[in-house]
Amino acid sequence: AAETAERLLDGLNPQQREAVVHTGSPLLIVAGAGSGKTAVLTRRIAYLLAARGATPGQILAITFTNKAAGEMRERVIGIVGPRARNMWVSTFHASCVRILRMQASLLPGLNSNFSIYDADDSRRLLTMISRDFEIDAKKFSARLLATSISNLKNELIDPERATDDADKAGTELERLVARVFVEYQKRLRSANAMDFDDLIGETVAVLQNYPQVAEYYRRRFRHVLVDEYQDTNHAQYVLVKELVGGSSETVDNPDDPAAAIAPSELCVVGDADQSIYAFRGATIRNIEEFERDYPDARTILLERNYRSTQHILSAANALISRNAGRREKRLWTDSGDGDLITGYVADNEHDEATFVASEIDRLSDAGEAKFSDVAVFYRTNNSSRALEEMFIRRGLPYKVVGGVRFYERKEVRDAVAYLRVLDNPEDTVSLRRILNTPRRGIGDRAEACVAVHAEQKNISFAEALRDAGRGVVPLLNTRSQRAILAFLEMMDGIREVGNTEGGYFDVGEMVEAILERTGYRAELAASSDPQDGARLDNLNELVSVAAEFSSEARNAAALADAEGTREAAVADGEVDPGSLAAFLERVSLVADTDQLPDSGSGVVTMMTLHTAKGLEFPIVFVTGWEDGQFPHMRALGDAAELSEERRLAYVGITRARKRLYLTRAIVRSAWGQPISNAESRFLQEIPNELINWRRLDPGKSVGNAIGRGQSRDWTRTGGSGFGGPSRRAESYGSPRPAPGSVRGKAVEVYKLGDRVNHDKYGLGTVISEDTLGQYPTVTIDFGSAGKVRVVPGFGAPMMKL
Ligand code: ATP
Ligand code: MG
Repeated sequence: AAETAERLLDGLNPQQREAVVHTGSPLLIVAGAGSGKTAVLTRRIAYLLAARGATPGQILAITFTNKAAGEMRERVIGIVGPRARNMWVSTFHASCVRILRMQASLLPGLNSNFSIYDADDSRRLLTMISRDFEIDAKKFSARLLATSISNLKNELIDPERATDDADKAGTELERLVARVFVEYQKRLRSANAMDFDDLIGETVAVLQNYPQVAEYYRRRFRHVLVDEYQDTNHAQYVLVKELVGGSSETVDNPDDPAAAIAPSELCVVGDADQSIYAFRGATIRNIEEFERDYPDARTILLERNYRSTQHILSAANALISRNAGRREKRLWTDSGDGDLITGYVADNEHDEATFVASEIDRLSDAGEAKFSDVAVFYRTNNSSRALEEMFIRRGLPYKVVGGVRFYERKEVRDAVAYLRVLDNPEDTVSLRRILNTPRRGIGDRAEACVAVHAEQKNISFAEALRDAGRGVVPLLNTRSQRAILAFLEMMDGIREVGNTEGGYFDVGEMVEAILERTGYRAELAASSDPQDGARLDNLNELVSVAAEFSSEARNAAALADAEGTREAAVADGEVDPGSLAAFLERVSLVADTDQLPDSGSGVVTMMTLHTAKGLEFPIVFVTGWEDGQFPHMRALGDAAELSEERRLAYVGITRARKRLYLTRAIVRSAWGQPISNAESRFLQEIPNELINWRRLDPGKSVGNAIGRGQSRDWTRTGGSGFGGPSRRAESYGSPRPAPGSVRGKAVEVYKLGDRVNHDKYGLGTVISEDTLGQYPTVTIDFGSAGKVRVVPGFGAPMMKL
């Protein structure tokens, strides 16, 4: 055992070791970027399991993204073996969904199949309320109302308290928000839905209102670990406190059932300098006051950085030291100074993009870097356009993370709305979304009649709709009544697809049935608008994603059966992995970063600075260092916002391991106008001797810049042996055309016994052929990756061998 323990500590520095072995009291690890916080957290979990006798079921680890959760889980499994699979490693939201589904019976007015509303759904609901309340949308937009309500929820303020507060000393806006908040919550409940903030807030409420439930989780999760603690908000802070339980007072209180158990071991890691989510209610107070919140806490500082070269760290240190009121820490490394940072002043955003692309080409040609080693960051999503255009022109493979996501596309949302209504018939927002999509003769007037009926009878919209089908809704004309009845019957019919008695349920089949029976696909197919062709592709993509999901779920269930862990997992609140609910949960909780390409993907990654948190790349370009761009215009006159922007710059710089490029454009178009921006003040805060300027502002004197005269013509055009047209930009799940033709699209045909190489699952053999709706599908045995049903031409690329 002692030997195992020693092995688990291999390679750690003394502070990291201490953090891994620390026992008992709450532990805070505060440390700068790249000092191994996430690595220590991971190692600590492995140590708990392998050396301290903790069971996987006792571990609750919270990460900032699903992707980070997956990596942490895999890493721990890699160290201690597959038994670690049963740990809870997930985001706050995903953990809360799991708790809430288990405890649904305690949630007034909700069932365990509640819908999860994202920002768009919330805004739709608020728009309905605004209309009913006759609120002036120009003065108080749905977005403003949504933000205001979200802020209240992040502070755990419920509608009653918001109303009290507003009545006492509120502004006009606060009173209005409180009134809308009450109605919004009421309608969420009647739709059997929660928004994102509710997931946290309701979990806190359950833990606070039901001490025996809180006790259950405290007994269960003896170890609570949180990464990126600097970006927790108040609600999340309270959630952690409730889960850990037992401050010294409650332990002494015999009336408190939680008194029977000691508090769980808490370990949080974070860096106040990397707090960049204030706009979502995150507060560095949680990290700064940790020692006050947990008086017996132990704090460990890590200052040695293992990620970047000293030049990169010096730049980061210099920049962040301009922020007032921070705990001073100086990152150092013994990996050497490394290269100087490269600076480039471009004429405009196209010139900037050209520089970035040429430099990546050069590094790749010289064998100094693979495309997947490189990341390009920008402050706002719209900045990716000029870069993308240039990458496409030069045939550089890339992937944009974030932006308009697959699940945010209108047609995909429509199809998902159908699924949601099938799973949760009371889901008003989804129901009203699809009621007349595609058009089926249920117009606005008819919808309004139903809504009024619901309001008067104080029943849900779904119930009112059933009344309408029965012809008991006043003022509804016969034609609408028939259309509504037909709609309800169609939905019942599709629901039947899910009743597979004994067989196994395939979400793909259900999506397929929706597209066919609603006429959605036919409508798009008949259209001559090329956009509709792309929409059709997206929907087919959804069919394939759903079918794959079901296959994976079936494999997981089979594995769990074999290991004898299935029953326990279900009892543990894991939804039936193949169910519609499970699929919808996956769809609701995907985030930008979940689309990050794997390091073997061979593409350059582009993303906003916010999305880059926690990641690292050998080569990093941070673009757009202009006042008004970065720092963002909004922050220029506001000290707090400016500090937040500076932290964002710090996050960006510290992602780089070996090489860092900082670029800016003298002129950049914004809102269709070329605007000339001054150099970012942040750039001036980085000591000039750290930067090698490849090209300076030609209109400015060059001062003490190093590397004058090294300026080169970066606008050389493509074609000279860097890949040319054979390389192409890779977009989300785009099919790779190959011989054979199915439905007008070139797709390879697969037969029984074919050997294939699949980008996601690896090598496999086709073991059966089948169809899904009009599409041929094949089931492929991927060995240890399981048997997966695939729709050729959709999903991750696949090749016949
Ligand atoms: P961030 O603040 O950006 O989230 P972090 O503090 O979480 O950074 P990690 O991502 O855990 O830092 O570690 C940064 C890099 O340093 C990783 O590549 C990690 O593998 C490496 N690293 C951490 N500790 C050590 C160590 N003791 N020896 C060698 N490499 C290490
Ligand atoms: Mg980290």
